[in-house]
Amino acid sequence: MYEHIKKEDSEVYGTLEGEEKRQAEGLELIPSENYVSHAVREAMGSVLTNKYSEGYPGRRYYGGQEFTDQVETLAIERAKKLFGASFANVQPHAGAPANIATYFALMEPDDTIMGMDLSHGGHLTHGHPVTYITKIFNFVRYKMKDAGTGAIDYEEMREIAKKEKPKVIMAGFSAYPRELDYEKFVSIGREVDAVVIADVAHIAGLIAGGALKNPFQYGFDVMLSTTHKTLRGPRGGIILTRENEELAKKINKSVFPGFQGGPLMNMIAAKAVCFGEALRPSFKEYTRQIIKNAKAMAEVFSQHNMRLITGGTDNHLVLADVSSFGMSGGEAEKLLDEANITLNKNVIADDPRRPMDPSGIRLGTPAITTRGFKEKECREVAELMVDILKNREAAVGNAKARIKELATARPVPESFE
Ligand SMILES: *Cc1c(COP(=O)(O)O)cnc(C)c1O
Repeated sequence: MYEHIKKEDSEVYGTLEGEEKRQAEGLELIPSENYVSHAVREAMGSVLTNKYSEGYPGRRYYGGQEFTDQVETLAIERAKKLFGASFANVQPHAGAPANIATYFALMEPDDTIMGMDLSHGGHLTHGHPVTYITKIFNFVRYKMKDAGTGAIDYEEMREIAKKEKPKVIMAGFSAYPRELDYEKFVSIGREVDAVVIADVAHIAGLIAGGALKNPFQYGFDVMLSTTHKTLRGPRGGIILTRENEELAKKINKSVFPGFQGGPLMNMIAAKAVCFGEALRPSFKEYTRQIIKNAKAMAEVFSQHNMRLITGGTDNHLVLADVSSFGMSGGEAEKLLDEANITLNKNVIADDPRRPMDPSGIRLGTPAITTRGFKEKECREVAELMVDILKNREAAVGNAKARIKELATARPVPESFE
């Protein structure tokens, strides 16, 4: 690996070496991260990065597209199969561009879109005031009615939808550990004539593997996602639609030329490889294990009276309030980081603390499950974490040594059969 960089650029090589070691010896619990196969990495580093392919297969602006057309078509066909979609756009450079291109395909400036409240689990791209997209569209919110169970207030959602007349209703989150009631979204959407979209950036892999419900089976119009989270592919985005060809065409136009320039063909090839991997039977097994592992960790936390937002988890992530340990999420993140456990501080519903130093931590199991961790190891990691939160610096040394053992005994696999 990296033989040319090593010879030609020692400065960059140093950073790669450091990151290799960090990933090998630490435990990655950030729920939006994962480890890709070497096949995905080879595609990302391939000669396809040299090619300009503005347009879509069969309709490009430049010549020389024999193989780029083939590889993009492969990615599209595999994505359709994986998610039960009729149309797929595999060009979005990442999740945020997929969101923005979808909004512009479905709305005019000043139109209203309804999404999940950000402190209740929604993502930055769902209308956080720091994003430019809020200057263009009007965001309204739905919330949980009970952070103890995670139940969404669908009645309030219906009332808001009737009053605000959103053009788009969005299901999706980056910090919510439960399943959404997709039927309710669709019925409210139909009632107010809104397009119903699911941003499944976090859970796409779990849907593809059949471990969670697929919004398309409940009548959703659009599904958009990243490809690098539970789906375990390259950093990138996708937008999927069902049956409605008119809608699919609008989305294609919105991605290119509306919003992006030339597609990253190397990344599209890597998406094709990732979708191929996710179509294998072993991926189903992987996604079920992710959820079993998250549940095992949540149980340990509960036994130690750590307050879990929504009371537990049905997916890959756990959101915990660490204030009962007398610390903020930021302090917990820092302490755990010293023991090579990487996760992130996170706001919790109606957080009394400041957003930059909130009360919660968010963690997830996609990456450690890729390394082969099962419930037993996950329970042990959770115990080590609780020990650190209770005993702070005094517990870090021991935990760090044990984490290194657990991690190095389970190296990141090069491929997934
Ligand atoms: C991660 C995420 C995104 C953004 O993806 P990027 O690739 O970081 O741009 C969008 N929506 C949701 C729900 C996410 O979790």
